[in-house]
Amino acid sequence: MSCSEDIRDLAIQRISRLFSLAHEMLRRGDIALVRRYVYLATRIAQRCRIKLPKRYRVLICKRCYTLLIPGKTCSVRVRGSYIIKRCLLCGNVIRTRIK
Ligand SMILES: [Zn+2]
Repeated sequence: MSCSEDIRDLAIQRISRLFSLAHEMLRRGDIALVRRYVYLATRIAQRCRIKLPKRYRVLICKRCYTLLIPGKTCSVRVRGSYIIKRCLLCGNVIRTRIK
């Protein structure tokens, strides 16, 4: 294990802080900062070799690092057994299978 438990806890705290800042920036309409904070959060996770918690992972556009908020930055459709999310900023499409 390369990172101690303490460092992992700290990483999770930082990630959660970055995501709340990203939400705040989205409210203010500053997409450049939203992307910056989301990108930093993913970098912290990579460096500490932790998986980004699922509650955050589902919010990210992996192509442009924006927050995916239905009705704001992404559209959500259900087709068959898939949820199809489309990032309205870069057009990236994310399909998730419904169990
Ligand atoms: Zn995108």
